[in-house]
This record gives sequence, structure tokens and C-alpha cells, in this order.
Amino acid sequence: MPKLNPAMKKQLIARVNYYREMGIHDFYRRPVEEGAALEIAESDAEAEPVTPSGSGTSLFDSPLPVITDKPAALKAIREDIGDCTRCRLHKGRKNIVFGVGNVNADLMFVGEGPGADEDEQGEPFVGRAGQLLNNMIAAMGLKRSDVYIANVVKCRPPQNRTPERDECDTCSPFLMRQIEIIRPKVIVALGAVAAKNLLAVNDSMANLRGRWYEFKGARLAVTYHPAFLLRDPRQKKEAWKDLQMVMKYLGLKTAVSS
Ligand code: SF4
Repeated sequence: MPKLNPAMKKQLIARVNYYREMGIHDFYRRPVEEGAALEIAESDAEAEPVTPSGSGTSLFDSPLPVITDKPAALKAIREDIGDCTRCRLHKGRKNIVFGVGNVNADLMFVGEGPGADEDEQGEPFVGRAGQLLNNMIAAMGLKRSDVYIANVVKCRPPQNRTPERDECDTCSPFLMRQIEIIRPKVIVALGAVAAKNLLAVNDSMANLRGRWYEFKGARLAVTYHPAFLLRDPRQKKEAWKDLQMVMKYLGLKTAVSS
């Protein structure tokens, strides 16, 4: 049986979880020719990230069913997470940081994982980096309550280290389900960890930024993590370029000049 590449495996897991959430638990395999399945897996692995021209590489380009009760669907995910011990990050956490914001948001920000303040308060981006993210959102002419904010991992890594690959792989299906429920028009990946996990690519920020990606029917842009911008404020100008690209697509008026 051909092996699935990681990107396709993630998509499959997310899709199965989505159906489970819809109450569909029984799945039947339809026999496929082995060569055909392998061909899809290989072409997907080699494909360049694409602009949203309608020629997406996703296996699942067909529209997802619309979820009418988004708060209930998100609550079901939170209940599914429970008092999670699925990965080692549970050991040091105080609070699971699920996500916050407008369930009907056009714009969703995805960060890496909670820090100390977020762990304390159980809400993403509430520390200094969160204040900067709020300023970035305000500069776009929006309020924090207009957008949805979540992270790849929902528990704080010890000493704020970068989450390990297996921790991201264990936790990110919850994020995928959140995205499929909120169905934003644009996702902004904050930093390399978020970008690499969402896009299943391993590339530098320089190469990842400045272009659109197609992701679950949304457009995805990559910019710097606010914590990085606090360390290197010179890059704020570059981040603002990324946000302006998003604003243009969403038809948002510039609230401040660059
Ligand atoms: Fe569970 Fe995610 Fe926390 Fe790991 S990071 S323990 S998978 S909620």
C-alpha cells in the first residue's frame, strides 16, 4: 500500500475528524488502483505551494458542509480536548489555550503556542507579543474581537521552547478542526512554526512570506511572529507589507500609514 506524504496525511486526519464531529463515524474504503493513489501522493509532495487561482493541489477541494452552530461545534472540539495528556506538553501547563475571537471571522491568526501569560490566563496572545498583535490588528482597521486567534499547540512548551514536531502533529488536528468550523477567508500564519505546520513545508521565512497559499478554501499568508518583531523591530515594516496584502484582499481600509 503506498505511503501517504505528511501533508496528505494531515488532510486526511482533519477530514476524518471533521466527519466525526458531524456525527459520521462509519467509513468504508473504496478500492483504488495502487498506481493511481501513489501518483496523487507523489504529485502533491512535489507541488509548489500555489496561489489561489482555483487550481489547488488539495485532495479535498470540494466544498465543506456549512456548519450553522459554530459555537457548539467549537465547544465539541474543546470537550474532545478535555484535560488533554496526548503529548508531553501537558506536564507543565496551567491552562489549555484553546483559541478566542469571532467565530464568523474573515481573518484568523495562527501562532506557535502559548507563553507564560497565555498559560496563566488561558487565552492566546495576551502578553507583550499579544499587545503587539492587537496593535497590528488595529492598524488593519479591525478590533481583536473581529478576528479569531489560535495556536498550533494549545499548551505552553517549557521555557517557551519551540514545540517539537511530534507535539505539533499531535495537537494540530484540533486547530485544523477549528479552521474548518470558522472558515475564515484569510489565515495569517504568525512565524515559521505556524507556517511550516499549516503548509507542511520546510522553508525560510524569507521564502515563505510575500505570497498567497491556498489552504482549506482560504487564502493563507505568512508573516513574522509578534514576539520576533519585539526582538527585531526593524522587521515591523516587512510585517506591515504582509498585512497590507491581506487588507487589500479583504477590502480593508488602511487605518495607519506605513
Ligand atoms: Fe493535548 Fe495539545 Fe496540550 Fe499536547 S499541546 S497536551 S495535544 S492540548
